[in-house]
Amino acid sequence: THVVCEPCFNCKYTDCVVVCPVECFYEGDQILYIHPEECIDCEACVPECPVEAIFHEDNVPEEWSGFVELNAEMAPQC
Ligand code: SF4
Repeated sequence: THVVCEPCFNCKYTDCVVVCPVECFYEGDQILYIHPEECIDCEACVPECPVEAIFHEDNVPEEWSGFVELNAEMAPQC
């Protein structure tokens, strides 16, 4: 799955949401989340993100590792 990380805070341009073929982005209060069971790893959203907040779960920068769990936890609740 892909994961939305820290740079998304106060961004939410939603350019990524528009290109996602399976509509697996969910909007939280301050940040978007990707539902891990719905993302098909197509990568379409990655270049669309203006703040480079989206990473494959295996490539999430160390300082944002907690976002893997956060996306999984929050997406289903949005
Ligand atoms: Fe959607 Fe593809 Fe991005 Fe996953 S990688 S969130 S399926 S656009």
